[in-house]
Amino acid sequence: MQQFQQYIGGVFSDGSARFESRDPASGEVWAMMPEARNADVEAAVAAARAAFHAPDWAGMTATARGKLLFRLADLIAENAETLALLETRDTGKIIRETSAQIAYVADYYRYYAGLADKIEGAHLPIDKPDMEVWLRREPLGVVAAVVPWNSQLFLAAVKIGPALAAGCTVVLKASEEGPAPLLEFARIFDQAGFPAGVLNVITGFGADCGAVLTSHPGIDHVAFTGGPETARHVVRNSAENLASTSLELGGKSPFIVFEDADIDSAVNAQVSGIFAATGQSCVAGSRLIISNQIKAQFLHRLKEKAENIRIGAPGLPETEIGPLCTGAQLSRAEELIFASLAAGAQLVTGGQRLEQGGYFFPPTILDCSEAPEAPCLREEFFGPVLSVRGFDTEAEALALANDTDHGLASGVFTRDLTRAHRMIRGIRAGIVWVNTYRAVSPIAPFGGQGLSGHGREGGLQAALDYTKVKTVWLRTSDAPIPDPFVMR
Ligand code: NAD
Repeated sequence: MQQFQQYIGGVFSDGSARFESRDPASGEVWAMMPEARNADVEAAVAAARAAFHAPDWAGMTATARGKLLFRLADLIAENAETLALLETRDTGKIIRETSAQIAYVADYYRYYAGLADKIEGAHLPIDKPDMEVWLRREPLGVVAAVVPWNSQLFLAAVKIGPALAAGCTVVLKASEEGPAPLLEFARIFDQAGFPAGVLNVITGFGADCGAVLTSHPGIDHVAFTGGPETARHVVRNSAENLASTSLELGGKSPFIVFEDADIDSAVNAQVSGIFAATGQSCVAGSRLIISNQIKAQFLHRLKEKAENIRIGAPGLPETEIGPLCTGAQLSRAEELIFASLAAGAQLVTGGQRLEQGGYFFPPTILDCSEAPEAPCLREEFFGPVLSVRGFDTEAEALALANDTDHGLASGVFTRDLTRAHRMIRGIRAGIVWVNTYRAVSPIAPFGGQGLSGHGREGGLQAALDYTKVKTVWLRTSDAPIPDPFVMR
């Protein structure tokens, strides 16, 4: 059985305990993971704190930090296949997606490598003739990066990249579900030549590891991706250390199709939006809001496509839908579907787990046009389940789109330019995709509002968010300081 180790202060070790990791395609245990508990978290934070102040990191030029990040990016590209195989094995995400996504992760590190020496301060035109005043941008400090299991190399990159570019150090906590790729990533990171302790990688459970880390007095900032309930814990934990937080949470994103849309393109985008990654995507377009003029035709085509999706072993290149990551998700999907049917939703296709071993669930469509209270319209499934509502007017489409506590992503399909602009303005979400869906780039900020959290990852601002401003006042006059009882 494969054994993985944690990475603290530049050293690989076994952790306080070990736990089993299951292959979602078979449900069988395939690897043992190091479980970080209190003592490991203490060691990881201490290593990151020491590295933050050590001259070999604190005194390194921003250009040199950028060069190390470039080297890391090259190593990720060289090892992309190994990382993709491990992610597929440990989380069930299909190899087609893990291969493409991890190759692209290298570009995220390149983007932040290039930014490292472009994080500039400012000189202020201060309103006092004998003063020079400027702003220095200094690294925030020690960052706790907490990620879920889906797209974990990507979600780690959008935290580690800008944090290291800015000069911070990081304790990365991988999810207890499928941590293998991030533990392997630690081995790759180790080869890049960063000083020991700049990045520490641990994994473990919420109470004994996540909570200890995010409330630790040695942490200055918590960059969290996960569900809203866990985020509430993280915010409460941060009351202990008063760390700043950024929260990237779930979604219930609307996918709006008007009657003038290119139907073939919209159907394909909807397949990508809800069935790709087996629906385990925070930006999943899980609420189809469709013009009643084309609803029957659209659903007919979508059902046909959904029923022809190849479900199978995630490691095979032809597979289009693999298993869900955990058994708990299967049960939750079934419960939510049951409750939604009881509330009047109509099953178009799918709806029940597949009895083929492992955690397989088929593409599922629920027509909720006569069931506005169905829980499937509000609750995130994190699975391949689409809920549908029809509309007659643009105002109704917008009201349905915004009828959610989340606000992460959205899609609008129309050929009418002015209508597209009105929808862009009206939708309450961090991302609007028009005539496309599920596109990302290191250059483009990513994040949400409401129950989807706050803060943005990706883009230039994300690097600045890992800095704090120091205001420097320098008096240029040699004259004695005047009246000491008057503020200058
Ligand atoms: P989760 O919230 O259960 O777990 C996320 C991480 O938090 C894990 O590492 C977990 O161990 C840790 N954790 C658990 N309890 C903790 C505590 N008390 N203190 C600190 N850390 C704790 O999420 P999940 O089920 O693994 O992942 C799915 C969720 O993540 C979905 O809601 C999904 O939408 C969301 N997500 C959001 C984005 C985004 O960028 N917006 C991206 C991917 C996933």
